[in-house]
Amino acid sequence: MAKLVFSSWGNEIIDNRNVPADQRTEANQPSILLDFDPSSQVAAFMGWNGFIVLDETANVIDMARAYAEAASQVTCNRCTSCRIGGAVLAQILNRILDGDGEEEDLTNLEYVGETMKRNSMCTLGETAAIPVLDTVKHYRQAYLDLIRNREPVERGEYKIAYTAPCAAACPAHLDIPGYVEHIKHRRDQDCLDVVREGVCLPGVIGRVCVHPCEEACRRGKLDYPISICRLKRFAADDEVSRGYWPKLPGVDPAKPKAAIIGGGPAGLSCAWNLALMGYPTTIFEALPVAGGMAAVGIPPYRLPKDVLQHEVDIVKSAGVEIVLNTRIGKDLLVQDLWDRGYKAIFVGIGAHSSSKMGVEGEDAGYEGFWPGVEFLRELNLNRPVPNKGKVVIVGGGNVAMDCARSSLRLGFDQVHLVYRRSRAEMPANPEEIEDAEHEGVVFHFLTNPTRLIAKDGKVVGLELIKMELGEPDASGRRRPIPVKGSEYIMDVDVVIPAIGQVIDFSPLEGVLEPTRRGTVPVKRGSHQTSNEAIFAGGDCVTGPTTLIEALSAGNQAAYAIDRYLRGEPADRPDDYKGQDLVRCVGPYTTLEEGGDGRGRPGLHHLEVERYEPDEDVGVEAQRPRQAMPVLPVEERVKSFAEVELGFPPETAVREAERCLRCYRLALVAVKPAPVEAEKREAVKV
Ligand SMILES: Cc1cc2nc3c(=O)[nH]c(=O)nc-3n(C[C@H](O)[C@H](O)[C@H](O)COP(=O)(O)OP(=O)(O)OC[C@H]3O[C@@H](n4cnc5c(N)ncnc54)[C@H](O)[C@@H]3O)c2cc1C
Ligand code: SF4
Ligand code: SF4
Repeated sequence: MAKLVFSSWGNEIIDNRNVPADQRTEANQPSILLDFDPSSQVAAFMGWNGFIVLDETANVIDMARAYAEAASQVTCNRCTSCRIGGAVLAQILNRILDGDGEEEDLTNLEYVGETMKRNSMCTLGETAAIPVLDTVKHYRQAYLDLIRNREPVERGEYKIAYTAPCAAACPAHLDIPGYVEHIKHRRDQDCLDVVREGVCLPGVIGRVCVHPCEEACRRGKLDYPISICRLKRFAADDEVSRGYWPKLPGVDPAKPKAAIIGGGPAGLSCAWNLALMGYPTTIFEALPVAGGMAAVGIPPYRLPKDVLQHEVDIVKSAGVEIVLNTRIGKDLLVQDLWDRGYKAIFVGIGAHSSSKMGVEGEDAGYEGFWPGVEFLRELNLNRPVPNKGKVVIVGGGNVAMDCARSSLRLGFDQVHLVYRRSRAEMPANPEEIEDAEHEGVVFHFLTNPTRLIAKDGKVVGLELIKMELGEPDASGRRRPIPVKGSEYIMDVDVVIPAIGQVIDFSPLEGVLEPTRRGTVPVKRGSHQTSNEAIFAGGDCVTGPTTLIEALSAGNQAAYAIDRYLRGEPADRPDDYKGQDLVRCVGPYTTLEEGGDGRGRPGLHHLEVERYEPDEDVGVEAQRPRQAMPVLPVEERVKSFAEVELGFPPETAVREAERCLRCYRLALVAVKPAPVEAEKREAVKV
C-alpha cells in the first residue's frame, strides 16, 4: 500500500511530511496505488479537488505551474476570469520557478485564484485554481524557499487528462462537453469529428449505447441528465442528410500489414484506428455482413441496417479491407495470416454461442427450439425464422427483450417471457422492459423452465416451475430457489432461450490458451496476448458486454499494435491511464458484478457514482430533458421500422444548451516503477 506524504483532496488535509515513512497514513483512494503503467508509478496527482503526494520528490510548485498552463490552454474563452486567470497563474508560477519571484507573488496567486473560483462560468474555471491555491496554502514554506533562493528550477513533464464526470464514465472517454457544445452552436460536423476520435460508429452508438455517461452526468443532480447518447445520433443523421463524407488520410502500403479476425465493433474500431495511422488492415469476417452483434444481434427497430452499413462503408473508405464469409479456423487458419505477411493480428470474435439452460430436451434438436442469438442472427440476415403461434422467451436481459419485441413484430399470436427472478432484478434496461410490456409481451416472473416437451420431434410445450427469492448470491441479487411441486406445463410452439452467450474459442485452438471462463486472455491495458504479435479485445476478452466497451477495446488495442509494430513495448494510451486514475480518485464508477449471474457485468448493469456524490449543483433553473419522438405503439408492432425518430434540430440545440460544461483537469507526476512492478505487470492477464 502506498503511504501518503500529503493530501488536500476534498479539503481533507493529511500532512505526513514530518512523519517517518513507515508511520505515514495509507492513501484512502485504494486504486491510486495502481501502477500508472508497467514502467511507471504515480508520484503525485493534482486535480479539481486538491492534490495528493505519494512521493516526496514530486515538485508540487512545478505541478501547479503545469496545471495552470494546461487549464489556460483549454479555456473556452467565454469568461474573462477563466480566460485570463489561468494564464496569469501560469505566468506568476513560471516567474517563481525561474528564480525571479517575489513574496507578494503569493498574494497575487491567491487573489487571481480566488477570483477564478468565484467568477468563472463553468467548472473548468471554477476548479482550475483549487489545487494551485492549495499548494500556496500548504506548501508556503517551499514557495518562500524558492523565492528567497532565486535559483531557476528545471521543469518536469506530466501526464495530463482533460475530463468531465460524463467523459470519465464513457468507456471511450469521449470529449462529451466538447461535442455537446458544438451541437449547441450547430457545428454538427465538428461534433462528429470529436466523436470519431473515440467512436467510429457514431450513428450506431448514438442509438443503442447503454450510456453510462448519462448515469454520471452532473445535470442529473439538478433535474435530469443530458441526452448525451442521442445527441451523437443527431449529428450523425445530420451528416447523412447533408450527404457529407468525412475526409480520411488513407493507408501507406509501405507500412506493415495487420489482420483483424472478426468484423464486429471491436474489430472495426481496431481496424479504423490502424488505418488512420496508415497501416494496411484487413478484416476477416465469418458472416456475410460486417458489424458483429450490431448487424446480427440488435434488431432493426432499434438500429436500422442502413445506418450501420453507412458507417461500415466509412470505415472501409479509411482504407480497411473487409473480407466477408471467411471464418478463421475453417476457411483460413491463423497460420495462413502469418504466411500472407500480416505482422500483427487482432482477435475480436465476440461471444456468439448461446449459453445452455441446463434443461431436459434442449440438445435434442427439436424443431421450434431456437437459441436467442441464433434466432436474431437469422432474422437479421433475412433468413426464415418461425413466426406463428405462441412463443416463449426465457431470460431477463436485453437479448431476451430483443427476442420478445422482434417476435411481436414477426406476427406471433402470443409472446411470453419467463424470468426466474422478479422484475426488480431484471438486468434489461428499464425502458426496454416498459416498451416490451406496452407492445404486448406477457411477463412471467419467478418462473423457470425445467423441461422441453416435444411431439414427433417438434416443441409442443414447456414445463415451468415457480421460484421464490432466497438470500443474495455473489451478484448481490437474491438467489432464485425452485418451489417444490409447483411445476406446470405451458403449451407453446416455439421456445427461445436468451440467457447469455459464451465464446467459441475453436478458431484459436493451438494458438492461444483460453482462460477458465473460456475467454481470450490478454495483459491488462495493452490487450496483448501471450503471443506478442496477437492482440484481442471486445466480448471475446470480457465476456458479453456492450458496444462501447468493444469499441474502446479496439481503440486501445490499435494503439498497442502501433507501438508493437514500431518495436516499442505494447501499452495503452496515456489518456486512458489518466482517466482510470480519475475514476479511482472519484470515487467514481462501479460495475455491478453479476449481470449474467456469473460474476460478469451485464448490459445495463452499470452503476455509476458521481465525482462528488454530495455536491450541490443547484446553479440553474430546472430545464427538463427534451423528449425523444417515437413511433406510436400500434404502429411499432406492425413492422421493424425504427421506434425512436431522432431529435429535430431545435430540440437537439435545446438539449445541448442544458449541458453545464463540467470540464476538469487532472495532472499526474510519475516516477520509474521498481523492477518488481514490471514483473508483476507481465503476469497480470
Ligand atoms: C441481441 C443483442 C443485443 C444487444 N444490444 C446491445 C445494445 O443495445 N447496446 C450495447 O451497447 N450492446 C448491445 N449488445 C452487446 C454488443 O452487441 C456486443 O457487446 C458487441 O457487439 C461486442 O462487440 P465485439 O466486436 O466484441 O463482438 P461481436 O459484435 O460479436 O463481433 C464479433 C464478430 O466476429 C465474427 N467472428 C466470430 N468468429 C469468427 C471467426 N472464427 N472468423 C472470422 N470472424 C469471426 C462474428 O461473426 C462477428 O461478426 C447486444 C448484444 C446482443 C446479442
Ligand atoms: S452537464 Fe454536460 S459536461 Fe456536465 S456531466 Fe453532464 S454532459 Fe457532462
Ligand atoms: S459512447 Fe456511450 S458512454 Fe460514451 S458518451 Fe456516447 S453514449 Fe455515453
